[in-house]
Amino acid sequence: MSTSSAYKMKQFDTKKAVFTIFTGLCKGCGLCIQKCPVNTLVWSDDLGVYGTPAVQPKDTDTCTGCGMCSVVCPDCAIVIERKK
Ligand code: SF4
Ligand code: SF4
Repeated sequence: MSTSSAYKMKQFDTKKAVFTIFTGLCKGCGLCIQKCPVNTLVWSDDLGVYGTPAVQPKDTDTCTGCGMCSVVCPDCAIVIERKK
């Protein structure tokens, strides 16, 4: 069975949350970058569904785990799991 490229993903273990980006869903619109309250999202070297850069947190310290990026993403490409 082959796995759909939509489920290609990358995880970042940050202090407050596990940040998962499904690069195969990201269309590179930049909305999450604009809306992150602590400006921790940057373009990544990994490519999204249209061959444009996907996104990632710039470091493991800044993300607060607020979930805003996940809420605003039109393609549900980001999942935030807050740590206790
Ligand atoms: S969870 Fe919040 S702080 Fe972390 S990257 Fe997303 S919008 Fe930014
Ligand atoms: S909002 Fe979603 S589709 Fe747009 S750049 Fe961010 S992760 Fe990619």
